[in-house]
Amino acid sequence: MSFKVSRAGAIEELNQFIENNLLEYSKLRNFDFGPQKRNNTSCLSPYVTHGLVSEIEIINKSLKKFSFVKNEKFIQEVLWRVYWKGWLELRPNVWTDYLRELKNIKENFKNNKDYLNAIGGKTNIECFNEWVKELKKFNYLHNHTRMWFASIWIFTLNLPWQLGAEFFMKYLFDGDAASNTLGWRWVAGIQTLGKNYLATEWNIKKFTNNRFQNIKINEEAAPKITEKKYSIIEKIFTNPDLLKDKTLLVFDNNLSMELTDFKNYDFKKILIISNTNETRQIQLSENTMNFKALLINDQLKRLKEKSIIAEVINISHLKNIKEPVYALYPTVGENLDYLQLNQLKNIDYLYREIDQFSWQFCNKGFFNFKNHIPKIVTRFN
Ligand SMILES: Cc1cc2nc3c(=O)[nH]c(=O)nc-3n(C[C@H](O)[C@H](O)[C@H](O)COP(=O)(O)OP(=O)(O)OC[C@H]3O[C@@H](n4cnc5c(N)ncnc54)[C@H](O)[C@@H]3O)c2cc1C
Repeated sequence: MSFKVSRAGAIEELNQFIENNLLEYSKLRNFDFGPQKRNNTSCLSPYVTHGLVSEIEIINKSLKKFSFVKNEKFIQEVLWRVYWKGWLELRPNVWTDYLRELKNIKENFKNNKDYLNAIGGKTNIECFNEWVKELKKFNYLHNHTRMWFASIWIFTLNLPWQLGAEFFMKYLFDGDAASNTLGWRWVAGIQTLGKNYLATEWNIKKFTNNRFQNIKINEEAAPKITEKKYSIIEKIFTNPDLLKDKTLLVFDNNLSMELTDFKNYDFKKILIISNTNETRQIQLSENTMNFKALLINDQLKRLKEKSIIAEVINISHLKNIKEPVYALYPTVGENLDYLQLNQLKNIDYLYREIDQFSWQFCNKGFFNFKNHIPKIVTRFN
């Protein structure tokens, strides 16, 4: 499997999936048939994470093919991402606490044999070792496999979830602060308190189509415990009145600026912000950094084709910009951290309409959010 590095490529994948595989999605989505047979899920997450295609675009295209009822499962999955992002926006300390804990744990585990064996794919669990190789080679893992992987990491290898989440972020092309951190917390049992996800041998065998056998893992561990409680912050996601002749910053979560709610606006110029490992707290793999660089170049090319003045700059150069600018909101994660740590106060954030509307439903669990999905879909269809 390989991922395209342009919006055109992403759209091609989206169309193919909707045309050929969406019909059987809910029946087959939980199967991981291996990296050479990935058409039972959309594999769109690296594109959605970088804003090459938007959740609305995907949902609306799918609704042109099938009714909401036929499509409900797929739409729910696409909106899980919006939910996780909103959940974290309302509780940003979950992310900052995660990074702080990670820093301490990393120091203590840097020479830990079990940890080094796990990230080297040298444990005595064959399927786990295969997934480590697969993640490093293809920069993607199937959703069910991410759940098994995290469960084995936490409950069989007894390693801290924070290190596992870092390992995923390093290699995944779709690495995302919200979906990844909250996905790991969920498996550990600290997201839905007291409910952990335990991988089992029969489940792995069945949903890998018997590709793996004889899997000795801990199927009975208790959920992890946390003392921390996070209350919801008061934050309003409103857009300022737009003024002409201002610069717009675009981060790597919104690399289709010309398709956003602000596409028709007359910005002075667009600065596409590239964030390198020097300014990141989690170091990304070379493949992941290259993938991001290619997507950034594709965005630049598309803007230039539309005769929009645009350039790519390193995030550290933002400190030199003193004039007021707009930025497509980078969401909780490394880019926003950089802006906050460096106290860059001349930035007015622009929020996507789907986020503005949907994040109000992220104050409780996903089952509550799910009740609002028809409303969200109708509003943006
Ligand atoms: C421990 C763990 C870590 C994860 N880390 C990430 C991450 O860093 N980035 C990321 O995008 N997803 C993450 N996920 C969610 C999920 O595994 C991927 O989004 C999914 O595997 C992507 O494959 P796909 O595009 O074929 O999904 P499909 O099944 O085709 O779903 C369509 C789209 O819906 C969204 N989606 C589907 N499932 C989920 C989900 N459970 N949570 C959030 N969005 C979802 C994705 O945008 C996806 O592209 C994680 C899940 C777990 C359990």
